Amino acid sequence: MNERATYIVMLGPPGAGKGTQAKVIAEELGLMHVSTGDLFRENLSRETELGKLAASYMNAGELVPDDVTIAMVEERLGREDCVKGAILDGFPRTPAQAEALDELLTRLGGKVDLVPFIKVPNEVLIERLSGRWMSRSGRVYHALYNPPKVKWLDDEDGSELYQRDDDKPETVAHRINVYYEQTSPLIDYYQKAGTLVEIDGTQDIEVVTKDLLKVAKA
Ligand code: ADP
Ligand code: AMP
Repeated sequence: MNERATYIVMLGPPGAGKGTQAKVIAEELGLMHVSTGDLFRENLSRETELGKLAASYMNAGELVPDDVTIAMVEERLGREDCVKGAILDGFPRTPAQAEALDELLTRLGGKVDLVPFIKVPNEVLIERLSGRWMSRSGRVYHALYNPPKVKWLDDEDGSELYQRDDDKPETVAHRINVYYEQTSPLIDYYQKAGTLVEIDGTQDIEVVTKDLLKVAKA
């Protein structure tokens, strides 16, 4: 019997495939998929104060302030459906968030067990983000690399797919810079902690999934 929860942090630049993979491996491992981007977008569609605040940063390709983001994750990981643990997607994104996560998981009786770092070069990221199609329920498609069965419609519920406002070329370039400036120091942070495992994110989606499951189940 597994006595404590498992927490996996998906690390990598925007467009690396974190969301795509997190959804699949969370199901396979029986863990919750917790995406801070999805949580902000849900808040925005419900027009909450948090959603409105987050949107002003998201549309500019900037990070939402640490205190707000950390409080949202703390609330989410404390819920009953996360007792077995979670796959964190898009969090942490700054050293302050990483430290807050360590503290929070200690309180919850766990720790960051594994950090797959999905490595993909910049030119591929831009191509991926400009062709990304999203469903309202967070499923991720790509016009060429992972097309839905029917163009612009979700395979599962038939709802209409959309392109994210922050996937516009100008915003994408800025988000990649923000990643290098604010998030990439976490590679070193988790390398020192001994939890980082590099994954080649340029491979086909199914091959990346296989590599991730291999390290997660090791
Ligand atoms: P992230 O969550 O890291 O920002 P996503 O999972 O949303 O990235 O993926 C970005 C885009 O790239 C999506 O359109 C997705 O369908 C596509 N994609 C993800 N992984 C791959 C892959 N291994 N090969 C080709 N396209 C991919
Ligand atoms: P994502 O869906 O992960 O690409 O995130 C979309 C946007 O949400 C980011 O560009 C940020 O504006 C915001 N966001 C998501 N996660 C975080 C986080 N951990 N810290 C700060 N901002 C975040």
